[in-house]
Amino acid sequence: MKDNCGVFGIYSNRECVDEIYLGIDFLQHRGQQYCGIATADGEKINLVTHRGKVGDRFTGAEIQFLSGNIGIGHVSLKDRQPIRLETKVGSFASCFSGNIINADKLFSDLKMKGHSFSTDSHIELISKIIGEGRDLTDGISLMAERIRGTFSLLILNSHGIYVARGPYGIKPLILGSGNGKFVVASESQAIESLGMEIERDVKPGEIVLIDKRGFSTLKQIPTTRVAHCAFEWAYIASIGSKIDGIYVKQVRNNLGEKLAERDEREGGFSADCVAPVPMSGIGHALGYHKRSKMQYQNVFLYNRYADRSYTLATQEARDKMAKRKISVIREAVQGKRIVLCDDSIVRGTQIRDKVRDLKKGGAKEVHVRVACPPLMHPCRYGVSTRTYQELAARRFIKKGEIDSIDRLKMIEEKAARFIGADSLKYNSLDDFVDAIGLPKEKLCLECWDGAAVIKEK
Ligand code: SF4
Repeated sequence: MKDNCGVFGIYSNRECVDEIYLGIDFLQHRGQQYCGIATADGEKINLVTHRGKVGDRFTGAEIQFLSGNIGIGHVSLKDRQPIRLETKVGSFASCFSGNIINADKLFSDLKMKGHSFSTDSHIELISKIIGEGRDLTDGISLMAERIRGTFSLLILNSHGIYVARGPYGIKPLILGSGNGKFVVASESQAIESLGMEIERDVKPGEIVLIDKRGFSTLKQIPTTRVAHCAFEWAYIASIGSKIDGIYVKQVRNNLGEKLAERDEREGGFSADCVAPVPMSGIGHALGYHKRSKMQYQNVFLYNRYADRSYTLATQEARDKMAKRKISVIREAVQGKRIVLCDDSIVRGTQIRDKVRDLKKGGAKEVHVRVACPPLMHPCRYGVSTRTYQELAARRFIKKGEIDSIDRLKMIEEKAARFIGADSLKYNSLDDFVDAIGLPKEKLCLECWDGAAVIKEK
């Protein structure tokens, strides 16, 4: 399960392609199937997109071709971006992170008006709506009125970069600067890793122009409700990032502490060590360790060289690759009672394999602790699509929501049996929200409680 996309843009005082390349490389965890860069060199817009990861795909000749001091970049799990369009508001390149729920209806409305499309991608759809405006700011406002969905959008033309965050603020978007350069990115880590400083988050509904003067707010689209994606802090974002004023690392530590507190509340619990599932459970396991004072121990070896730049064709080959990537450190597990922390359970098959591997390696007991409450609903806002059938928790509770600790415990017992663990506990939704530290009303929690942030019409 991965976020669909990450975006990066820069207005620089010199050639900018190297920084865009590094920027999207830092955002690679948000999407690994496609990558792309567009730069503006005077009136000319250069564009290169690829299938695959940033580090594997761009050639030296392409980097040279991407000349200019303004540019945007994109990584994606589902389609090639940026795209380039000629419209009545001029030529521009655009990319976004998000999802348009009413895309089918908008495609057919636009086709009825005479538009044609070369893809079924949402970026082409929203870019064509934007192209109907009087200017880019008007076009973005028009698009925001007509769509039902989420967006963190970058539009590049010869003057600068138009930046817009959807009015619910579901997807993150942050501004930074340094050394005469102005940048925007899905995550702060991508900015700080380039030696620049964070300025501020783009406000929900805000349209900002980045040009040689820096950042100027062009318009504030009215917003009825802010609903930041809570999954960003628990799972999606890099542990080094800060989103809407809150550090991801701090939230992950808090989530681990909450799990340890629950064990305390429920009569105490002892084991020989607490261990993370690499790399996703590290922050949570550290939090559990801090609260419980239990020894922190790596029980898996993460092979950073076992990567691949192509998609393996068979499940068997993929399983073998997964084994090459993470293997058990036998000496650390033999005869041990282990608390194993992870961020979330989707299908349950990966954590089941890890529990099995630990037991094969000699672990006496494995107690799984999961930072996120059970996932009950697919995401409609741009986190890669999961169906109800895929969600493990849905197999254990067919109807209704987890509205009491008894229902949570019922899922936990069934899930523990399914993955072969000696026990399994999730954070409750209340503890999860507490760990983030924002009021519940300012968060999207739809994949846990099913409460729709954006209503279907
Ligand atoms: S439904 Fe879940 S994953 Fe999707 S935006 Fe809301 S909190 Fe994030």
